[in-house]
Amino acid sequence: MVTEKNTAGHFVTRFAPSPTGFLHKGHAFAAMTAYRRAQKENGTFLLRIEDIDQTRCKSAFVNAIYEDLSWLGLTWPEPVRIQSEHYGDYKNALDQLENLGLLYPCFCTRKDIQRELKAAQSAPHSMDGPVYPGTCKKLPNSEIKAKISAGRPYAIRLNLKRALSYIQEPIGWHDEIYNYTSASPDILGDIVLARKDVPTSYHLSVVVDDALQKVSHIIRGDDLLHTTHIHVVLQKLLELPAPIYHHHSLLLDDKGERLAKRIGAPSIRDDRAAGITAQEYLKSIGF
Ligand code: GLU
Repeated sequence: MVTEKNTAGHFVTRFAPSPTGFLHKGHAFAAMTAYRRAQKENGTFLLRIEDIDQTRCKSAFVNAIYEDLSWLGLTWPEPVRIQSEHYGDYKNALDQLENLGLLYPCFCTRKDIQRELKAAQSAPHSMDGPVYPGTCKKLPNSEIKAKISAGRPYAIRLNLKRALSYIQEPIGWHDEIYNYTSASPDILGDIVLARKDVPTSYHLSVVVDDALQKVSHIIRGDDLLHTTHIHVVLQKLLELPAPIYHHHSLLLDDKGERLAKRIGAPSIRDDRAAGITAQEYLKSIGF
């Protein structure tokens, strides 16, 4: 993939929410951390909408993101990059990896994977669930062809072992919080790069977009730290510039639990409706 290098040393960071719900304090904290840093560096703060999961993403949530962030006083350059409008870019990256012989189709259902893992007993687990046991990596070409012509849906996975032997050097990243970190991509294994229902995946789109948008500093919560182990592999394979990372700790609620919709964290709009001012809100999250 050809992207222009961020030669001017211009500081660019981003906040990249998925519009699967209303933003809460945890999001506001992450967005503000990136925003204030960009201001301090005389840099650029970008907003990106990560909406490839069309079953969970809703345009009402996209509009709410714009509204809530504006209420907090944030501004960003337009147009906002909306991932679902850029499948062509992800396809180019996939083609590049395909040309290197690093991809394989995976026909497994969740059930197939569970069955296989049960049989294997000591299956490694990642933060995102079990590491794929590699079932479809062993399929002969004839079987792959037959399944595809029979219309069987498939995802596309990265052959990590082959990818690492292609790279042939230790990989890692510079992190402002965690210092230099060596990558251990085995914790994620043969990740999905294109889903059965979407022609890309979170890992692929985020890496492609950060490069295309010349993001120099990836500032995000440390709940995503584990994903960086594979993102740096993709950057190397696609010959993309290496951004600096900053994985900040998450804002916790009074009980020390991570704020999430699932545990009933009030959304920014709930708090707004209760009459809080933006200034009071920002103060409550340490800004
Ligand atoms: N869209 C991701 C999320 O909402 C964040 C991606 C990133 O910051 O790299 O969790």
